[in-house]
Amino acid sequence: MVCAIELEDLLPQLAAVQVDTVEAGKDLVRITARTPAGVPVACPGCGQASDWEHSRYVRHVVDEAVGGRPVMIDLAVRRLYCENPECVKLTFAEQVEGLTVRYQRRTPALQAVVEAVARALAGTADARLLLRLHQVLSWATLLACLLRIPLPERPVPKALGIDEFALRRGKRTDADPAITQCMDRWHLWHGLAEAARKADTGFMLRV
Ligand SMILES: [Zn+2]
Repeated sequence: MVCAIELEDLLPQLAAVQVDTVEAGKDLVRITARTPAGVPVACPGCGQASDWEHSRYVRHVVDEAVGGRPVMIDLAVRRLYCENPECVKLTFAEQVEGLTVRYQRRTPALQAVVEAVARALAGTADARLLLRLHQVLSWATLLACLLRIPLPERPVPKALGIDEFALRRGKRTDADPAITQCMDRWHLWHGLAEAARKADTGFMLRV
């Protein structure tokens, strides 16, 4: 039985572009595509739409892995003139929704995965996990990614917590005797991990 499936059914983020070639290699899927000509795009400076093409250039965008292989999209995009004489922008680069973001070398879908992993692990462990997801990123890149994630809006706290403070090792300073001392997050997790390890060791000894 022959299974007929369109490429854009499998990769809907490519629906708005023209795909020229797809090379499915052993270690990489490389897709060559271009944005269609004559489609007006809103200028990011003034909002006025323009399809007056200045030039084209190729962006290399990494997407989520397919079949255990990373996906590289070589996408030819347009630089357009802004036709508004009062706009501060003479030209601007078009973006493709779901595929490109200004200054970003990953698709929004892959960037969401990277940010989720960086949020959860925030260290060298996230680089190792992403390697299993066929994405090679250094811990420094992931740390930079984590720092760029905007913080969520939260109400202004009415009380602040102060972590342990010491001018010299072993010389702790109490900020205020009236403050209720409680365990911080690191010690809470550390204590839990230690308790779990001891419980596990006890179980193994009993076995
Ligand atoms: Zn403009």
